[in-house]
Amino acid sequence: MSIAEKSAQLQRLAHAQGWRCARCGRSLGAGAQRAHRIPQSVWALKRYGAAVIHDDLNVAAVCGNSCNDAMSFGPAGGMREKELIAVIKKTLSDKRRKV
Ligand SMILES: [Zn+2]
Repeated sequence: MSIAEKSAQLQRLAHAQGWRCARCGRSLGAGAQRAHRIPQSVWALKRYGAAVIHDDLNVAAVCGNSCNDAMSFGPAGGMREKELIAVIKKTLSDKRRKV
């Protein structure tokens, strides 16, 4: 994902969230950043692929590092990870069908 794509995703998510942090609800300012629920770690990218890991459904706009850390499912995401992966895969396959 390029820097321009990351920036566009942050803008898109922030807009969709009414410019509020997805975790604490504070106004998103200059420290706003993308937070991955399933982490963008080597193991996760290998297991699910970049399209899934960087999908809007796995990413939220947050106000800073502490909210970013809190959004992460971590390496043992359990059911939350399984459910989110199922939703993202369905969304991606629906998108492909429409093209
Ligand atoms: Zn926050």
